[in-house]
Amino acid sequence: MPRTVSFDEMTAGLKASPRMPVVFVGHGSPMNVIDDNSYTRSWAQLGEALPVPQAVLCISAHWMTRGTTLVHVSERPRTIHDFGGFPAELYAQQYPVPGAPGIAREVAAMLSSHAHVEEDVEWGLDHGSWAVLAKIFPNADVPVFQLSIDLRMSFEKHVELARDLKALRDRGVLVMGSGNLVHNLRALRFDGVPHDFAVEFDQMTADWLVDRNVAAFVEAPKIGNLMRLAHPTVEHFIPALYGAALADDKDDLAFFAEGIDLGAASMRSFIYA
Ligand code: ZN
Repeated sequence: MPRTVSFDEMTAGLKASPRMPVVFVGHGSPMNVIDDNSYTRSWAQLGEALPVPQAVLCISAHWMTRGTTLVHVSERPRTIHDFGGFPAELYAQQYPVPGAPGIAREVAAMLSSHAHVEEDVEWGLDHGSWAVLAKIFPNADVPVFQLSIDLRMSFEKHVELARDLKALRDRGVLVMGSGNLVHNLRALRFDGVPHDFAVEFDQMTADWLVDRNVAAFVEAPKIGNLMRLAHPTVEHFIPALYGAALADDKDDLAFFAEGIDLGAASMRSFIYA
């Protein structure tokens, strides 16, 4: 019977686990990297509770490709400031972490039976990955590499890739999705009141996660209007689909952050372990 537990209950046994958990972080605004708030504190708390991974594989909403799945294989991924109109302090931030070219090349080979995969040395770490990891692993000592999201690929195909990646959990690799379970930039508002569609979609996806209902994630486009409101474009949704599909029946689930930021960005974050 799948269990949903509190984050405190989960962290009690987490460090001793030989098997890596699967994590999804709702990353929200890039400002989180210089802000101190309940979300960023929950990310720091996650980092303290996790077993130290050999490497992190991040699937970020901000690395989109069309027709090819790229795996970043450089020794030193650069910190990409892929946002506009923020304070200078944010552009001065660096996350000087090593890459993981060995395991990244293996991942590229692993996925090639299900996708057109190529190695990449151009990208680096976009803010979907470094802005979150800077809070989770502030010492920048855990190697990180990214996998791109091929937007031409069907949700079913993404689930196949996610299932291929499951083997990494037994090899000390932390697979982390970074997106938002609700993400509608045009509907952002500064009075802080969540839109009804945001609350409804966020709760619905939470239920899917509790029920281990990966099929519901795959079929989300069939929902119609509510899905279009929650995700006018799907790049922030797909990393959560990876998180859901990498879970096992024997994993417990915990939510380590919850909330709707700026009315239309779900900060809900989850861990299966
Ligand atoms: Zn984003």
